[in-house]
Amino acid sequence: QCILVCPTGALHTKNDKQQVWEALKDPDKHVVIQTAPAIRVTIGEIFDMDVGSLVTGQLVAALKRLGFDKVFDDCFGADVVVMEEGHELMERLESGKDLPQFTSCCPGWVKFCENFYSDFLDNLSSCKSPQQVFGSLVKTYYAEQAGIDPENIFSVSVMPCVAKKYEASRPEMNDSGQDRDVDVNLTTRELGELIKEAGLDLKTLPEEEYDHPMGYASGAGVIFGSTGGVCEATLRTVYEKMTGEELEDVELEQVRGKELKEGIVDLGDGREIRAAVVRGTGNARKLLDQIQSGEKDYDFIEVMACPNGGCVGGGGQPVYSGYDRWTKMGEHYVKRAEGLFKADQQKEHRTAHTNPYVKKLYDEFLGKPHGDKSQDLLHTKYVNRKKYTRDRLYGVKECNEEAI
Ligand code: SF4
Repeated sequence: QCILVCPTGALHTKNDKQQVWEALKDPDKHVVIQTAPAIRVTIGEIFDMDVGSLVTGQLVAALKRLGFDKVFDDCFGADVVVMEEGHELMERLESGKDLPQFTSCCPGWVKFCENFYSDFLDNLSSCKSPQQVFGSLVKTYYAEQAGIDPENIFSVSVMPCVAKKYEASRPEMNDSGQDRDVDVNLTTRELGELIKEAGLDLKTLPEEEYDHPMGYASGAGVIFGSTGGVCEATLRTVYEKMTGEELEDVELEQVRGKELKEGIVDLGDGREIRAAVVRGTGNARKLLDQIQSGEKDYDFIEVMACPNGGCVGGGGQPVYSGYDRWTKMGEHYVKRAEGLFKADQQKEHRTAHTNPYVKKLYDEFLGKPHGDKSQDLLHTKYVNRKKYTRDRLYGVKECNEEAI
């Protein structure tokens, strides 16, 4: 039985389904949706399918029947993040500045860093999350390609995460020139309700394909949904770019899974990348303290705030009741992650830089990774919120309102 409980404690979230229904009914709106990597292995549970079932095709079919004008894959946005974040990492490795580089695609982690470890803000990748990269591209690149006025585009995302609602509302995440790059964010549970309200059953639907040009992703983009996936996806591209050689085995298992994983990627000729993956803010705090004390030293670190497998166990995902729910959920996270790694294996392209639609995006629109246009649209700045947090902790009334 699925119930509405948030395992990350973000309990006071609003339900945004009504806004989506209204947009779908509005004949003047061109409504597009992006689905995050982890949704394809979890939404089936809301329709009594086996945990970890890979239901990408049925998910797309349901969204088309709901009336979305275009159904896109947020994994394409993840591939673009790999290109941007990977080039940023290569630049930092060359200059030796602002290392280690931290991933920035988890809004829970970004906010934690802004509040409690603002000394590390320059170490965060300036690249936005896949949701926001995608949102920005929908209202610029896609609008241009399709010949649609971006003012008429209503952009929806489905995410495993309640923190993504907050992320989409941050002013520094909106650069397309419109009010918002992502107009509404739905959680997996909200989308499940929407599909049921339309009288559809995911189980019985035929498999359908995402639309183009933002519906094809490499396997690297797909594994973003599991802990270790962002690090592995980025290192696949960085390795091939830095060595000029193809990886014989793209599966970098040394950075998958567990609460803290460390791995070294050997680039040959004496060069290496020291990587770490950590999930849960308690584990992140320990690691950051060790880095500050000089006990640990890395080049690249992935942090995901959700302690149970990253986004596959996010606060917007189906959860379970009953005395054994924690044991059950522990097993479920593993099965969900297995579903994503299976989807990666089924992909023709396993690295972001070989995705033909990503190449087309750079050729026809962005120019080059981490270039001027990318920096305008796909990169951001973070806010030092430490003063506010300290003031609040010590009961001082005065606070930095702009930083809240
Ligand atoms: Fe959201 Fe959790 Fe994924 Fe972070 S790890 S993006 S908080 S679901």
